[in-house]
Amino acid sequence: MTARMLIDGDWTAAGDGRTFETFDPATGEAIETVPEATMDDVAAAVAAAKRAFSSPEWAQMQPAARARLLWRIADLLEEHAEELAELETRNQGQPLGVSSGISVPNAVEHFRYYAGWATKLHGVTVPLSIPGVDYRNRREPLGVCGLITPWNFPLMIAAWKLAPALVTGNTVVIKPAEQTPLSTIRLAEICLEAGVPPGVVNVVTGGPSVGQAIVRHPDVAKISFTGSTEVGREIAAEAGRRLARVSLELGGKAPSIVTPDVDIDAILEGNLMGGLLNCGQVCAAYTRFYVDHERADEFAEKIGAVASTMQLGHGLDPTTQLGPLVSAEQLERVDRYVQAGSSEGARLVTGGERVGGSLSGGYFFQPTVFAGVDDSMTIAREEIFGPVLSVIPYEDADTLASHANDTDYGLAAVIWSRDIGMANRLAHEIKAGTVWINLPPFLDAAAPWGGMKASGVGREMGWDAILAYTDTKSVWTSLT
Ligand code: NAD
Repeated sequence: MTARMLIDGDWTAAGDGRTFETFDPATGEAIETVPEATMDDVAAAVAAAKRAFSSPEWAQMQPAARARLLWRIADLLEEHAEELAELETRNQGQPLGVSSGISVPNAVEHFRYYAGWATKLHGVTVPLSIPGVDYRNRREPLGVCGLITPWNFPLMIAAWKLAPALVTGNTVVIKPAEQTPLSTIRLAEICLEAGVPPGVVNVVTGGPSVGQAIVRHPDVAKISFTGSTEVGREIAAEAGRRLARVSLELGGKAPSIVTPDVDIDAILEGNLMGGLLNCGQVCAAYTRFYVDHERADEFAEKIGAVASTMQLGHGLDPTTQLGPLVSAEQLERVDRYVQAGSSEGARLVTGGERVGGSLSGGYFFQPTVFAGVDDSMTIAREEIFGPVLSVIPYEDADTLASHANDTDYGLAAVIWSRDIGMANRLAHEIKAGTVWINLPPFLDAAAPWGGMKASGVGREMGWDAILAYTDTKSVWTSLT
């Protein structure tokens, strides 16, 4: 099968006919051929989005109609939920339980949530201290937005960006990750079917150079990027040169803090979900487990024992609890980190190897737990993005916030505690965009999401995303 890109309402191959293959990570087999966009294709997509931005049918669409349009996209996603979940699983690897229980419903909810804002995008009036002048402000769309997404939750993350971009009246050029383009292409089809005018949503496929071409294009007013911190820095520098707006959702190294009073058995499930959801390929994955030194080994043994019983397999198999990593490259990377953990002196409790046998064609890695880790080790410092959990013993609970903050990242953290005062003190002291207390890593369209420090700039979700896709215009009127 050969996929197509969406430019100006037409499904098209690359200008020079070049393509690349996309794989099923559970088998390593190519499942579809996808166009590798040329620079001219990107320019055509941006030009289409620019025209559509000022077209009467988009620019003058009434708020109630815009709300209905987004609601219709949500309805269609829901009607095709099963098909979308299977597609996401086949191309990304996540078990069906994750694609049908998290990825698709979360994408649907983003369109419904932002449909609700369409009729509530108000500005304010402010009493100025200048006689005879009336003042009001309004929120205006930015123009063409470049939405660049990663491979870990392709459909869901595209929805995080697309829903607020559309409800505020922008037009978009989306570039999905080269590893996982299929669900984004399907999302664009659904947008057209829902009645989104041609040119409002464009999709170009390909690798980093396609992303770069979007970032550098002078007619792209804003870049919303989710991906690695390394690429985020490059994008911020490029965007800075021409003063394009930018939102960056980058890497993480979330600490899971277990205070001394906790019942370890009661928190295993939440920690396993936090650490191993989507095979650990989650920016907010719980990776650094700080446990009191007297109980750290108990925690490591217990979480290791449950992790080692998890059923690995193809995501389409309903008994699968843990799918593959997304690519051969990611498998290599995880393997390298695990070797670094062992060679730097961490104690391997379980896992540590690629999976062979009937799964050897796919990119499977055993769920892995290390004990006796300290903050200086590579596995405690760098983002692994795989099923690798590091248990770090602490001596003194008063040092927990400084342990948690001993990282360049600041995306998320979790605190497990029966002491509500201590948990809230820690929540205030930890530098992270999100802190969960006694919870697995939940997300909600209404709750702003994003990172501090090297985990990003700006926030998605909630009203914050409305601000991120609009500018404030002040209108002053003489009353005389
Ligand atoms: P990546 O940075 O390699 O790629 C992300 C996207 O950017 C892809 O579409 C890629 O083609 C494109 N790209 C690569 N180089 C580019 C360049 N120079 N200019 C423009 N575009 C470019 O990231 P990845 O490996 O796909 O995803 C994993 C990373 O994403 C992890 O670091 C993870 O933490 C992060 N992530 C963050 C969040 C969040 O909400 N903060 C969510 C999911 C993933």
